[in-house]
Amino acid sequence: MMYLQIDGVSKTFGGNKVLSDIRADIREGEFCAFVGPSGCGKSTLLNIIAGIEKADSGEVRLCSRPSAVQDAISFMPQQDLLLPWRTALQNIVLPLEMKGMPKRDRISRGRDVLRQFGLEDYADHYPSSLSGGMRQRISFLRTYLCEKPLMLLDEPFGKLDAFTKMDVHRWLLDSWEKGNQTILMVTHDLDEAILLSDRVFVMSQQPSSIIHELKVNLPRPRKLDMLASEELKK
Ligand code: ADP
Ligand code: MG
Repeated sequence: MMYLQIDGVSKTFGGNKVLSDIRADIREGEFCAFVGPSGCGKSTLLNIIAGIEKADSGEVRLCSRPSAVQDAISFMPQQDLLLPWRTALQNIVLPLEMKGMPKRDRISRGRDVLRQFGLEDYADHYPSSLSGGMRQRISFLRTYLCEKPLMLLDEPFGKLDAFTKMDVHRWLLDSWEKGNQTILMVTHDLDEAILLSDRVFVMSQQPSSIIHELKVNLPRPRKLDMLASEELKK
């Protein structure tokens, strides 16, 4: 049985047909990326999978049930939804709080991941005082700490500089390889998609459909090390 099935999803806004019969089958534990030009409907597709937007036709099933009704999904939207009245740390630990984790434990877990991202000095800062790249990492960490079986990431690292991005990529792959989470990432950056994922679904301009599926076969740690050494030679 396929884990996640995107089965003929179409979507029109007004007279504007955005998605046309999108199909993809994702296996449990896979890291897949959807790539396509700006405006082709990547966010719309991810919103439909997350259950925030409704498809006009077709459906998305997770373990044979509609994805929209499931509690198995964590979602990082393209626009971050950090709570402005909470500090970076308080934002990150929100999912742990909702799970009922005791305060001491969640604060310690939150500080720990902030430290891994080099953001420990910003724990008590409010989102309005953080740069776009910092907010993006905070938003990613909050999504990550939901610890759901399926993680949906919409352009998660687009605001990070090349070096920070390399660190975060490595961290994400390490954590993904240790667990059995399924990840679906949307990006306009084909290099990033190939670097991180097992399979890349390439979307066309609107009305968008999957025009190509790339299988990525290189072993992952070696790939990242290659990249790092190429980067350092420059
Ligand atoms: P991408 O994420 O690939 O850049 P989007 O999914 O954000 O693309 O948008 C695809 C198209 O759908 C764009 O033309 C956008 O203007 C349109 N669109 C997205 N959301 C809405 C909406 N809620 N109402 C009307 N049009 C929308
Ligand atoms: Mg988008």
